[in-house]
Amino acid sequence: MKTVTEGELKARLRKPLLLELKDGAQDRVVMGGLEALVENLARPFPEIRALFQGYGAKTPEERRKALEQALALLEDGEEARKEPPPKGGGRMGLEDPAHPLAPPQSRKRLAELGLRTVRDVLLYFPRRYEDRRALPGVRYLEDGQKATLSVKVLSKELVKTPKKGMTLVQVRAVDAWGWRLTLVWFNQTWVLNQIQEGASLIVTGKVRRQGGVQLYVEHFEDEGTESLSTGRIVPIYPAKEGVGQAFLRRTVHRALEKALPLEDPLSAYREEHGLMDFSFALKAIHFPEDERELARALLRLKFDEYLLLELKALLDAGGLVLGRAFRVEEAWVEAFRKALPFPLTRAQERVMGEIAKDMQSPRQMARLLQGDVGSGKTVVAAFALFLAAKNGAQGALMAPTEILARQHYENLLRYLFPLGVKVELLLGSMGERERRGVLERLKSGEAQVAVGTHALIQEGVGFRDLGLAVVDEEHRFGVLQRRALLKMAQHPPDVLVMSATPIPRSLALTLYGDLEVSVLDEMPPGRKPVKTKVLPHALRLQAYAFAREEIRKGHQVFVVAPAIEESEALELKAATALYEELKGLLPEARLALLHGRMPAREKEEVMEAFRQGAFDLLVSTTVIEVGVDIPKATLIVVENAERFGLAQLHQLRGRVGRGGLEGYALFIAGEASRATLKRLKVLEASTDGFYIAEMDLKLRGPGELRGTRQSGYPELRLGDLAEDTEIIEKARALAKRILEEDPTLSKPQHQALRRELQAQAERIGFREVI
Ligand code: ADP
Ligand code: MG
Repeated sequence: MKTVTEGELKARLRKPLLLELKDGAQDRVVMGGLEALVENLARPFPEIRALFQGYGAKTPEERRKALEQALALLEDGEEARKEPPPKGGGRMGLEDPAHPLAPPQSRKRLAELGLRTVRDVLLYFPRRYEDRRALPGVRYLEDGQKATLSVKVLSKELVKTPKKGMTLVQVRAVDAWGWRLTLVWFNQTWVLNQIQEGASLIVTGKVRRQGGVQLYVEHFEDEGTESLSTGRIVPIYPAKEGVGQAFLRRTVHRALEKALPLEDPLSAYREEHGLMDFSFALKAIHFPEDERELARALLRLKFDEYLLLELKALLDAGGLVLGRAFRVEEAWVEAFRKALPFPLTRAQERVMGEIAKDMQSPRQMARLLQGDVGSGKTVVAAFALFLAAKNGAQGALMAPTEILARQHYENLLRYLFPLGVKVELLLGSMGERERRGVLERLKSGEAQVAVGTHALIQEGVGFRDLGLAVVDEEHRFGVLQRRALLKMAQHPPDVLVMSATPIPRSLALTLYGDLEVSVLDEMPPGRKPVKTKVLPHALRLQAYAFAREEIRKGHQVFVVAPAIEESEALELKAATALYEELKGLLPEARLALLHGRMPAREKEEVMEAFRQGAFDLLVSTTVIEVGVDIPKATLIVVENAERFGLAQLHQLRGRVGRGGLEGYALFIAGEASRATLKRLKVLEASTDGFYIAEMDLKLRGPGELRGTRQSGYPELRLGDLAEDTEIIEKARALAKRILEEDPTLSKPQHQALRRELQAQAERIGFREVI
């Protein structure tokens, strides 16, 4: 009689167990019940037999557990025969090198994926999942449906389509019930060699029923014999060529086995936030039992991701700093209101309240004030500066360009002069004598408010007592300049950052992790929305006919040349060509050209001349400041508008119609696909900068939002800024609370958190774009 080896027995056992698992553990795969079969085949393996005692009477859940445990035992044996067990066998820590997780011949694959430590492996999250709990048969597939199924390959061939010259790989296959179908790959001839006749595959793709059944394959893999790849929700990892999914699953699974349970970095806060345990979440994000578990794991790990991001931002900014507590008297607030030529909007009142509260608190104010151009941020800044002055402290307002600094200076004079507050202007272009006078008055404290450019942070500038720093960033996100201004004070001053770029709250919260966010989401009355029209390229000349009319009325026109990302030189060429063309089209108009390659000083001169009416039409790349008021500018034309983000176009149109005249924006779509036009039409329908920015985030992602290009945007593994605002708010509130209790994260209950922060620090933060 032929003796059967243990290995063969195991191989024979595996198949029915897998089938049973796939069938939903209903004990109907094996006639006479699975227990009897196992009793028979698993005689040499008492552990496995024990798992199946009373199998028929168990719940499906218990059965599934038994099956998985049994399969794991069988696999372990299998692996043990194929390769030596990892050295040191025992538990592994997060910092341990990852390579022992893989068999020797596969270790360099881990390195190729950048998986150096056990932590790297555990945090290598699936890109998506496939539900392989109960795979459908071919018979039940519907036309157009996406499906995953298990099939056996009958034959394969390469087919050339006469039309379009495409090459198809066609594979005839059959499912477990004998129904046939054809698998199709377009233009991927390499697939042909990857597939063997007789092989069992798991394939995912789109179903087409035309006569026979076809599946347009998007993903496939060898079925294998592992429980990690069948009968469950299966993770699909971001993979490089040559690194198989089964290998990744095995490696991650082993890492989970070796490293779990891990200390939960949020053990002290987990329950109040209703978060899943850390170890459980790690297991469930890779190998979820069901959709609910996956959703909870995702929530937990996203929370961790945002928490680390917020903690890092706060710690990088020096933590929660003690500043000074200003006094705020209701009578002062009333006096400020009275001195204004208009009533405040509700949004202005609300934000002023938020600022007053911050300034009263002993903690340093760190607040971002966001609002569309024209929403009235300057008034709010004036209010904060007024409060500082009333407390005997000085305030500074820093703007990115001289034109803007001058404009702020004029506005602040208007608001603050009647209240007896002394405002000074400091610019780099000032004469030495004038400058010396200003510096003296800043030093002595005679000047209560200083407005200026980065001239404010140069050598030789000193304040008697700087208590409040306002930074108008427009769209520059100038973290470094902000810090430099703060250094001008002996004690940490309160900080108010103004930005005219509406960005979605989720992005503001992560990009400005160290700032509270206030929003002016209401325009002062009387400001009419800019009339907006999207033009297909064919009707482009209509825009310039309209420009001629506006110029004839004595109005001014902006024309924005196509932005060309790759090269400033090309951009200049495009702008110059447009400038020449428009000279021909509008011979009677006075034209000027402004582009990114001009020195800053020259740019400002052109802009200033335009503001004063020396030109009728300004052709520019997008370099001009959005905050500059040009009262007679009524029309903006943007060429190749599809190359800009919606939020950016919205900002561009904010430049016109600011002097009480009707404003118009004409966006020319150079490439007029239906989707492009539809996207641009959002601007015809809405004037809400925040709504538009949300749409941009949803349609194009954070890397495309204005401003994020220069400064980077948070690079997230799991998080999705288009939908996570609520989680971010909670994570941020917790980050603050933790640092309030423990500013340096040195308490014992924060050690695990601190370790994660240190280990992941280089990853957390911002992806530089370009
Ligand atoms: P921002 O800095 O947000 O672009 P500004 O503060 O420069 O806006 O205000 C734009 C214009 O609106 C200014 O001319 C200002 O005087 C005016 N303004 C501000 N607040 C109000 C208000 N509540 N009612 C009427 N006009 C206002
Ligand atoms: Mg402004």
